[in-house]
Amino acid sequence: MTVDEKPIKYPGLPVLDGWVNLTEAAELLGITRQHAYKKLALAAAGKSGGWKSARRVGSQNTYVVSRPEIDELLAAKGAAVCGVSEAIKSSSAKKILHVDLDNTLVDFGARLEGIDPGVLDHYDGRYDEIPGIFAVMPPVVGAINAFTTLAEHFEIFILSTAPWGNPSAWQHKVEWVQLHFGFTADSPAYKRLTLTHRKDLSIGDFLVDDRPTKNGADRFTGEVIAFGSDDFPDWTTVTAYLLARA
Ligand SMILES: [Mg+2]
Repeated sequence: MTVDEKPIKYPGLPVLDGWVNLTEAAELLGITRQHAYKKLALAAAGKSGGWKSARRVGSQNTYVVSRPEIDELLAAKGAAVCGVSEAIKSSSAKKILHVDLDNTLVDFGARLEGIDPGVLDHYDGRYDEIPGIFAVMPPVVGAINAFTTLAEHFEIFILSTAPWGNPSAWQHKVEWVQLHFGFTADSPAYKRLTLTHRKDLSIGDFLVDDRPTKNGADRFTGEVIAFGSDDFPDWTTVTAYLLARA
């Protein structure tokens, strides 16, 4: 091995052609440094999961791993992630449909006119942070029937973002779902509520959302249906479109 004269990313650690030190290996593989060092112990003990190519270099306790081994592990990791995604999809004969909550199933603006103007003023532009606001909102016209119908044809989930600044909204969202769809296992929404700020991390074929670019919706890997847009102004058009693609 020859020492590379290129700038050293981690001062004090050598950079060698075709090799990476354990800190960099951990970074490349998305594992902790502790895990990278544990793989040394596994290799020394001849157990699976250990490095195949690890070498000690210099007089310090510095170890390096070959770049081809890193590439091999990265390729295996990518294949495993794809495999999990495909397994989740194929475990269901039905296509996966996610439906947003605020202003898609819940008519969020419907009851604002009854609220103290001073409170509205204080929460201007962030009405979803008004304590208790969520519980009193009615469904969007046709939303409950549409969701119930679509649940027969799709593996359906509610995919919503709850405001970080209003913890009661997290509770009120599940209560709203239970109130309008039912609490028990025969509800089409039973244990099918996902609250997240990263909608792109939910796997699915379709997402119905009135804000198709927010909270990761623009990176959702399936088709995003913009609820309230010219093409999909209401649940009648959305339901017809989806049933034709179930
Ligand atoms: Mg919404």
